[in-house]
Amino acid sequence: MKILSPCLDCGACCARFRISYYWDEKVPEGFFHETTPMFRSLKSKKDPEGRPRCNALQGIIGTEVSCGIYENRPSPCRDFKHSYEDGGPSEPRCDEARLKFGMKPLPVPM
Ligand code: SF4
Ligand code: SF4
Repeated sequence: MKILSPCLDCGACCARFRISYYWDEKVPEGFFHETTPMFRSLKSKKDPEGRPRCNALQGIIGTEVSCGIYENRPSPCRDFKHSYEDGGPSEPRCDEARLKFGMKPLPVPM
């Protein structure tokens, strides 16, 4: 049985953290700012409650979300693990982001 990712109904980290990455990553035009000659950061937009979130995040945080540039998301997004992914210890930033948006940290699977 395939287990769906808990990220599909979360998305909190896509609003909690600012994402910067090296300029040569292939993120689509329109989704980033040039912050320095060597680095770019993802653009943000406001959700209906006025909270900033990544411009590529689609859906409602805590209900159902997806990344509009999933195949071309930058390396910090690819590297960010949800808590207990790979059976490892809790990822503090995942827990932090979820708490910020009123969601409990992910439970550790039995
Ligand atoms: S905060 Fe954690 S569970 Fe939520 S989308 Fe990010 S990695 Fe996934
Ligand atoms: S690019 Fe996608 S995975 Fe990365 S912060 Fe934005 S919505 Fe989230």
